[in-house]
Amino acid sequence: MTRALRIGIFGGTFNPIHLGHLRAAEEVREALSLTQMLFVPAARPPHKTGSVADAIAPAEDRLRWVRAAVADHPAFAVDALEIERGGPSYSVDTLHQIAGRTAPEAPVFVLGCDAFSELGSWREPEALLSLAHILVMTRPPVRSGSLADWIPKCVRDDVDVAEDGLSARHRKSTTWIRLLAVSALDISSSDIRARIRAGRSVRYLVPESIRGEIEASVAYAAEHARCIDA
Ligand code: ATP
Repeated sequence: MTRALRIGIFGGTFNPIHLGHLRAAEEVREALSLTQMLFVPAARPPHKTGSVADAIAPAEDRLRWVRAAVADHPAFAVDALEIERGGPSYSVDTLHQIAGRTAPEAPVFVLGCDAFSELGSWREPEALLSLAHILVMTRPPVRSGSLADWIPKCVRDDVDVAEDGLSARHRKSTTWIRLLAVSALDISSSDIRARIRAGRSVRYLVPESIRGEIEASVAYAAEHARCIDA
């Protein structure tokens, strides 16, 4: 009998991809025995502001960096569907597309606890929860906690949280939510962008093979920030 494919979906702006993303993805893949972890870079994230600190590198650059970053991992792959679709990237549209491919097995949507706690402001959070299982990763400063603390109000009545706070079941579908404590790597894309703007080193925060390209990105340059400010 062949084992059902279990696909993880790791969405993000990846502006730029960093070692915090990659290590967390690897720990989730291992913990859930995922057949494949699909990195899905957003075309235009609906929730980012467009300020200097949020300056977004062109989608084709972010996509190329993600591809290069995962190239040597046999179970990591990249899906450019959000970039190919264009316009604002709504996760619910992405999950519809990927769940259609993995049916009857639901994919596992992977996100950090910071992103999970904001799910209420995303498009159709109720649909998100029934289209895919959700794996919530801890992210510094959070080390542990209960899912109940982060489940958005609008879907609180749709799920039953287990007593230990580490998992929850969807009442109307067969999907689950789980919390996984991953190694605490306090790395963020915004910190990397700030370091580049300030002319500081980002060595050992991003994969070495793409560090030069990331550092040279016009989008992250101090001059570019001045242009946006003007
Ligand atoms: P920014 O600092 O620009 O907001 P980011 O570092 O949060 O970016 P995203 O591409 O927005 O990166 O994140 C994609 C997903 O990865 C989100 O679900 C986020 O919670 C998760 N994530 C990012 N960095 C880490 C990390 N260091 N540890 C665990 N999860 C992370």
